[in-house]
Amino acid sequence: MEVKNISDVQNDELGVLGQMTNMGHEQVLFCQDKQAGLKAIIAVHNTVCGPALGGTRMWNYTSEAEALKDVLRLSRGMTYKNAISGLNLGGGKAVIIGDSRKQKSEALFRRFGQFVDSLAGKYITAEDVGISPQDMTWVNMETNHVSGLPGKSGDPSPVTAFGVYMGMKASAKIQFGSDSLKGKKIAVQGVGHVGEYLVQHLQKEGAEIYISDIHEDTLKHVASTYGATAVGLDEIYDIDMDVYAPCALGATINDSTLARLKCSIIAGAANNQLENEFKHGEAVREKGIIYAPDFLINAGGVMNCYGEVYNIPNDRIMTMAEDIYNTTLGIINKSRDEGIPTYLAANRMAEERIKQLAHIKQYF
Ligand code: NAD
Repeated sequence: MEVKNISDVQNDELGVLGQMTNMGHEQVLFCQDKQAGLKAIIAVHNTVCGPALGGTRMWNYTSEAEALKDVLRLSRGMTYKNAISGLNLGGGKAVIIGDSRKQKSEALFRRFGQFVDSLAGKYITAEDVGISPQDMTWVNMETNHVSGLPGKSGDPSPVTAFGVYMGMKASAKIQFGSDSLKGKKIAVQGVGHVGEYLVQHLQKEGAEIYISDIHEDTLKHVASTYGATAVGLDEIYDIDMDVYAPCALGATINDSTLARLKCSIIAGAANNQLENEFKHGEAVREKGIIYAPDFLINAGGVMNCYGEVYNIPNDRIMTMAEDIYNTTLGIINKSRDEGIPTYLAANRMAEERIKQLAHIKQYF
């Protein structure tokens, strides 16, 4: 199986099969049920490392093309995240086209569950943007191929935050010669679920914390609880800081912010932080900033689901999240040895594992 570098992919002019071929997808399932109001796409990118696991996103896409592009990109990202994390999981993702505040119903999610079930375990779903535990309970009425159910592995955010913290400490070890974050100036952008747990770890370690959030109440709550300094949404890029931790949006590492960021480490939870992997991954390297690849250090959440799927105890999952420290060290060292950006070193490590497993699986 050929896994191309994400940066090589130019999809805009291609049809569905062309896009699948370009990005290396195994299967894409289009699902519709007029009466249930369901329009969904399930993308199975790669199952070499195991069944494809990735959440279902409900979003009011402006076109089917936009929904397809998103599900193809997200499912491919899950292949890399699960592979580099050493999980017995491949990569997949699903999108439901619709307004999550107005168009949800039991029938919609149960019909979606039937489509998930039709893949016979090749795809395992979970929550993502716009989906609640209740929605997953309905999906579970039609299929067992669901994780993140209420009363099971629970909120993945604490594990995600712990992994991000480990990745940040490993980056500090290489950049500053010590993994202590005591006294380091750290700017956390977005203090929602993951951001707040991350701030908790940083406060315990004695970091000097700066935070931003679009919600004033969230910002005030985190600032007063952990003694963090609240800063403006745009101001956060100009702070004289050691670490920038994006925990809200993707694509915040771009031409405009790179001209302003004075940090020496970027390590956060948000997915797809580099606006353009190829261009901004290299630009970050040239500036001497260590970028801890997002899909590597935010994998605690999927590890949490993994524990639920394979009945792995919590303490073992926390040990796996702790090991993000060692993997991050390995990636930064590989990037330095080979003179390549960290995102590329991480992509290559994931691709290498898939290649090795593809080889041994021919004997099954
Ligand atoms: P969340 O919605 O709970 O928190 C995001 C926070 O960012 C919110 O408080 C929101 O108000 C704030 N925000 C939005 N736009 C902002 C802006 N322009 N500037 C500053 N703050 C802004 O989400 P979360 O679960 O904490 O996830 C955070 C990020 O990490 C997301 O990108 C998510 O995809 C990624 N992630 C989360 C997990 C997980 O386990 N929850 C796992 C992997 C990746």
